[in-house]
Amino acid sequence: MNEYDSDRILDITKKINYISTKDITLANCYILNTCHIREKATEKVYHDIGRLKKEFRNKLKPIVLVVGCVAQAEGDVLLKKEKYIDAVIGPQSYHKINEIISKLEKKSNQINFTEFEVIEKFDSLNLIKNTDSKVSAHLTIQEGCDKFCKFCVVPYTRGAEFSRSIKELVFEANQLANNGAKEINLLGQNVNAYNFEKKKLSDLIFEISKIEDLKRIRYTTSHPKDFTDDLIQAHKNFEKLMPLVHLPVQSGSNKILKLMNRKHTIEEYLEVIKKLKAIKPNIKFSSDFIIGYPGETDEDFQKTVQLMEEIGFINSYSFIFSARPGTPAFDLSKLDPKKTKERLIHFQTVAERIKTKYRESLTNKVSNVLFENKMRSVNKYFGRDEFFNSVIVDSCEDLTGKTMNVKIIKSNQNTLFGEITSKPKQKNYAA
Ligand code: SAM
Ligand code: SF4
Repeated sequence: MNEYDSDRILDITKKINYISTKDITLANCYILNTCHIREKATEKVYHDIGRLKKEFRNKLKPIVLVVGCVAQAEGDVLLKKEKYIDAVIGPQSYHKINEIISKLEKKSNQINFTEFEVIEKFDSLNLIKNTDSKVSAHLTIQEGCDKFCKFCVVPYTRGAEFSRSIKELVFEANQLANNGAKEINLLGQNVNAYNFEKKKLSDLIFEISKIEDLKRIRYTTSHPKDFTDDLIQAHKNFEKLMPLVHLPVQSGSNKILKLMNRKHTIEEYLEVIKKLKAIKPNIKFSSDFIIGYPGETDEDFQKTVQLMEEIGFINSYSFIFSARPGTPAFDLSKLDPKKTKERLIHFQTVAERIKTKYRESLTNKVSNVLFENKMRSVNKYFGRDEFFNSVIVDSCEDLTGKTMNVKIIKSNQNTLFGEITSKPKQKNYAA
């Protein structure tokens, strides 16, 4: 979502004649877009600003803005501690960025802009063309969260659940398709909680799938509790909907899920997976895990490992519990860090073994790949198969934006390597 926000910030600031530069030393304005989900986020800001100060030691200082969730959560502290920062802007206020930059150009004092103006934000973003021209584009459809898991900062930094209208989303999706997008990833902190005037995520997918130039639709991140039957059915009805579901579970133990206030049980989670598999047998899953949540015993942890083995997630993101200030879990007594680290290593070893086995099973199979860009090395193209695996092939022909059948030759931890067989005449899943 931060990537989407950063692209939109660029679209907004173009209106006051700012353009992006890859050469940091040329910047008149430096915008740091931040994430607050795990610890060290604030330290990273100070570190980055320190680097910036060095770059500009003998030059005119650029305008320095910190935007995003760290700005929302720690705005005043940042401004007080680091005078080099000119303004902090929360994730629901960045539509005001041009006003803020204009004030700072006239040498204003430090500014803290962290209101929750989500309706106003999207009203003003709707008036500005989305110029993102990536083959695989992001589109924020929903923001915020009402679930209040005890470990999570999102309800405090992004605010309450808010869904954009189907009309504005179809309009923006068309803009992206006209710019060259072939794939759209619909985004939300709880994307399947999408609800605009009783229209759900499945209704939105139906509308967006009508856009002819768009070949693929994905959505992330889902919450198990909001995985309703209409969304399950959508995986059967809409061919453009990709057969990979990212469904965070956090823990394999009902006791820990309850302590986390996750609002779902393992049985409910497995039921969603069962229904999806019944409707689409080749479907695959990825997930998020928190290891070492306060109260997690060896037995609870083993349940998480068992779940990993049982489902065979093809990808997973696992992190040690990070105590976030302002969340209810902040003050809970932590587990022994050595033990938690051991658990994480054990879990990641199991996850890696499963992933490697899955990847090896793809060798000599044919995958359907959407190519996103040419790589720096000559004549190599990067794309993704339907299950979001990275694929690289050699080609003299420009493959950008094309969907091709690729025979997988070999794989490593992160990438599949293959050769083009043909343009797909029919769907061909490397399941
Ligand atoms: N809304 C999604 C859900 O409920 O499953 C997840 C979105 S959350 C923004 C992204 C991921 O960050 C979570 O799935 C969780 O694994 C991780 N996360 C959030 N807070 C965390 C914390 N305090 N410590 C470690 N990981 C955390
Ligand atoms: Fe955070 Fe997801 Fe829980 Fe909401 S549902 S509080 S975004 S982990």
